[in-house]
Amino acid sequence: MPDTLIRNISHLVTFDESDRELEGADILVSRQRIAAVGHGLEVDDSVEVIDGQGLLVLPGLINGHQHLYQVGLRSFAELERAPIHPWLTALHVKTLYLWRQGHYTPASVGAVARAGMVESLLGGVTTVADQHYVFVEGKTEPFIEEMIEGALETGIRLHAGRGSMTKGKNRGGVVPDIACQSIDEVLRHSQELIDKYHDPDPLARIRIDLAPCGVHTDEPEMYREFARLAAERPEIGMHTHLYEVIDTGFCVDTYGVTPWHFLVENGWNNDRVWLAHMVDPPHEEIPEFAQAGVGIVHLIAPDLRMGWGLAPLRKYLDAGCKVGFGTTGSASNDGCNQLGDIRLAALAHRDMQMPAHKWPRAYELLRLATRGSAACLGRHDLGAIEVGMAADIAAWDMTTVDRVGVHDAVIGLVLGGLSDRASLVMVNGETVVRDGRCTTVDEDAIAEVARQAYPVRTNPQRRRS
Ligand SMILES: [Zn+2]
Repeated sequence: MPDTLIRNISHLVTFDESDRELEGADILVSRQRIAAVGHGLEVDDSVEVIDGQGLLVLPGLINGHQHLYQVGLRSFAELERAPIHPWLTALHVKTLYLWRQGHYTPASVGAVARAGMVESLLGGVTTVADQHYVFVEGKTEPFIEEMIEGALETGIRLHAGRGSMTKGKNRGGVVPDIACQSIDEVLRHSQELIDKYHDPDPLARIRIDLAPCGVHTDEPEMYREFARLAAERPEIGMHTHLYEVIDTGFCVDTYGVTPWHFLVENGWNNDRVWLAHMVDPPHEEIPEFAQAGVGIVHLIAPDLRMGWGLAPLRKYLDAGCKVGFGTTGSASNDGCNQLGDIRLAALAHRDMQMPAHKWPRAYELLRLATRGSAACLGRHDLGAIEVGMAADIAAWDMTTVDRVGVHDAVIGLVLGGLSDRASLVMVNGETVVRDGRCTTVDEDAIAEVARQAYPVRTNPQRRRS
């Protein structure tokens, strides 16, 4: 792979320690890392030069919470306005229906996951943290292994979360027993994934994280055992859903504590942990999240889609919490468009009860989606454009007709534009998107295969109710 120079970048946002924004700067990429950032960098003829004029360049976006198997489960008419309980029930019914029809297989999950990965790359996302937790009849099939193969093919960086559901309805949980596994089997497979795929080194393309689905779907012992396993090996993250509105009642009724104190009791209050949603915690717990060093992934689109309203984002930031950004799975988001969701967050948090200077800026949200998500995932090598960091870069063309008249590129990228499709994307120094097209795989072929993987049956009549 030759070195690459992106020359004369119109607007470069580094999100480095000094939060530098540069105009007319160059980035030199050597092998997998950023080798230099500056003006007028000199290189020899062996270096590939890309013209950065007209580009807004950012560190690659990092999606801190995703369920790629749901890419084939988007936009059901009957679930358009479903709140969480009917939505969760329907999600499991639909997944089990697919399984009974022979469509929920590692190959089909791998196919829709690849589509989600390519969509992510095209949207400037260079790292995805996935959580996969649906294993039917207690059996471990190689869904996660397929996703890892997909990541290596498409070129995206993957944190593969070994999910679990261990507390079915028979044990007082809320999910069908047929979708649950034993703790022993989850641990056996987690260890196998770690031994085979987990790369603890900087620049790792694949890492394994341990990711029970939630406090209402998993036994306390699952959390404790995952914490024990994570502590045995370096750079294994711990990830789960928390404060998804339904958690609090369940936890208080079942365990007599809040969801956060359930985590504390089970060894999940440390800086390896990051938590998805965090919509409705008691506000007095917020300083404890900061103190423990847990990450919080803000998921504005699913939170709004479920009718949950706004997570207390500004309170988290003011308290010094580690905050990242993500999309969650496509069954409650309808897409993997992280930049589109940043736009949603920039607008949704404009609350008249709050002084306007507390509303999140576009810049601040992009920093959450880069440096913030990297911190959640425990990645010190990602999330900034700085010498020595992984060369994960996303760039958007700001010269298109829909961005004419933009006076501030960062605001214009987030709040405007007909498309969020990136022009240029690099992962570990490898160009994966060029001129708005994926270069590693044929995106049209990926879409076609994924369309066949989970059959779609449309029924417009369902909209009438
Ligand atoms: Zn989720």
